[in-house]
Amino acid sequence: MASSSFKSTRMSIAASIRQAMGTISDIVYPPVCLGCGEITGTHGGLCGDCWSRLKAIEKPVCDVLGTPFPYDAGEGVLCADAIADPPPFAKARSAVIYDDVARSIVHRLKYSDRSDLAAVMARWMARAGGDAIGAADAILPVPLHRRRLLRRRYNQSAELARALSRRTGLTYLPAALLRTRATRQQVGLGTKARAGNVRGAFTVPEARRSQVAGQSLLLVDDVYTTGATVKSATRALLQAGAGAVYVLTFARVAPGPL
Ligand SMILES: [Zn+2]
Repeated sequence: MASSSFKSTRMSIAASIRQAMGTISDIVYPPVCLGCGEITGTHGGLCGDCWSRLKAIEKPVCDVLGTPFPYDAGEGVLCADAIADPPPFAKARSAVIYDDVARSIVHRLKYSDRSDLAAVMARWMARAGGDAIGAADAILPVPLHRRRLLRRRYNQSAELARALSRRTGLTYLPAALLRTRATRQQVGLGTKARAGNVRGAFTVPEARRSQVAGQSLLLVDDVYTTGATVKSATRALLQAGAGAVYVLTFARVAPGPL
C-alpha cells in the first residue's frame, strides 16, 4: 500500500514536471495549427478545418512515381508517365498533395525555423514512404547550394531527412551529396526549363563515395513538382556507385497541368 502510494506520488511528480515543461514550450512556441497558424489546443497538430482540407496520398498509387490513381488497378501497376519516361530513381513516395494547406506547412518549415514541425512532417512521411524506407540503407537530403544555405541558414529538406533518420534508424548522410552549381529557383519554370536548370547541379565528393557505393539511398525533399531536382540528384548518386535511389517528399504537385 505504502509503496503504491509512493509510486503514485512519483508519477504525479513526473506528470507535473512534464506539464511544467509543456507550459515552458507553450510560452516559447504557443500551440498553433501547422496549416493556418490559428491557436490550437495541442502541439504538432492541425485545426479541424486544415485537417479536413489536407489530402493524404493513399494507395492505390503508381508503383514507381507514387502518383495517386483514381481507382485500384492492382499491385505494381505503373502510370503512363512512368512508362513513357522512366525516372532514374526506383520509387518516389509523398505524404500529401501539394495544395494550400500543404503549401503553408512547407512555408512554415522553410521560414519559421521550427524543427518540431519537421518531426511532425516526418511522421506523415514515414507512413507514406514505408516501401521506400524499408528498401533503404541510408538517408540524405536534397542539398542547397552553399550560398543559399548561408543566406537561409537552414535547409528544410535536411531537417526532414534528419527527423526521418531519427524515426527510422536509417544512417543519416548529410554531406554525401553536394549542390555544386547555384541554380535558379524552380518556381515559375516549365518542365523543360526545370530539367535544364538542375542538370549536372549535384555531385558526390570523392571523399564521400564510400558512403554511397553499393547503398540503397533514401533521398528526401520537401516538394515533388516535376521531379527534375530529385532526378538530377539521383543521377549524381548512381554515377557515384549507389545501388538504388528511393525518393520521399512531404508533398507532391497533383499530376496534370501545372
Ligand atoms: Zn488550420
